[in-house]
Amino acid sequence: MSDTFEGEAAIVTGASRGIGSGIATELAERGASVVVNYRSSEDRAEAVVDEIRDDGGEAVAVQADVSDEDDVAAMVEATVDRYGSLDVMVNNAGMTTLGPAEEIDLDDWRRVIDVDLTGVFIGCQAAGRQMLSQPDGGSIVNVASMMGEMGFHMRAPYCAAKAGVINLTRTLAVEWATEDVTVNALAPGFIKTDITDQTQGSAGYTDDDIRRRTPMARYGTVQEMANCVGFLARGDTYVTGEVLRADGGWTSDAWRYHENRA
Ligand code: NAP
Repeated sequence: MSDTFEGEAAIVTGASRGIGSGIATELAERGASVVVNYRSSEDRAEAVVDEIRDDGGEAVAVQADVSDEDDVAAMVEATVDRYGSLDVMVNNAGMTTLGPAEEIDLDDWRRVIDVDLTGVFIGCQAAGRQMLSQPDGGSIVNVASMMGEMGFHMRAPYCAAKAGVINLTRTLAVEWATEDVTVNALAPGFIKTDITDQTQGSAGYTDDDIRRRTPMARYGTVQEMANCVGFLARGDTYVTGEVLRADGGWTSDAWRYHENRA
């Protein structure tokens, strides 16, 4: 495997918008045939596919709920039927809920754990089964969060799920290390997408707060996350079980709040 993904097939879960759509587009630009997974936004997923095809790439939209084992198995099977292999699996789909821990409804807790943690396990397991059966193995990249490494108020299920994703990543990396299947995680900081817009108002911080707290003084971009996944998915780096923090320096900085920063 190399920097280009020519002749390889990739699945990106939750690729109808946000970080996932950027990852799908980037992998397609680098030559991969890409399955653009979505749960409910078919129109948006088809728009991502159209954009990739307009740029000369290959992609198809596939509906699957990542928390449903049968859906995900069928998506992997459809990928292998269509493209002959599954070389890159990006478990990106995610959601969150906000609320004080003492008030969180157990159904909301379970919904976040189901999608953000169990969904990643289901994706890894389905992809792993296929990759372990292939002579060239494959690469799995799980999109975690810096909130999987630090506590963050109002997000108990999300932080717990993302912490689980990080140690699941290390565990699978160790289990599959001799089989040419790498498993790595990306831990983004604040990236401007629907999820940040949706949570920002009710979470009580502003764009200025993020700028003041982040050493790089800005949000990360979807393209920057896609670039990171492009690296982690390469499989020719001797890197497995790694958690790549792409957070503008946030988790490296224990104390920073620039009151006077514009
Ligand atoms: P987003 O804009 O809200 O997009 C979420 C994507 O996930 C959508 O394509 C959505 O598809 C899909 N999805 C949700 N539940 C699904 C399910 N059960 N099955 C299949 N697809 C499902 O989110 P984002 O900001 O791009 O975040 C992407 C990932 O990065 C998430 O894992 C998130 O936790 C992580 N992350 C984001 C940030 C950030 O600042 N944005 C920071 C750290 C980590 P539908 O539209 O069809 O529902």
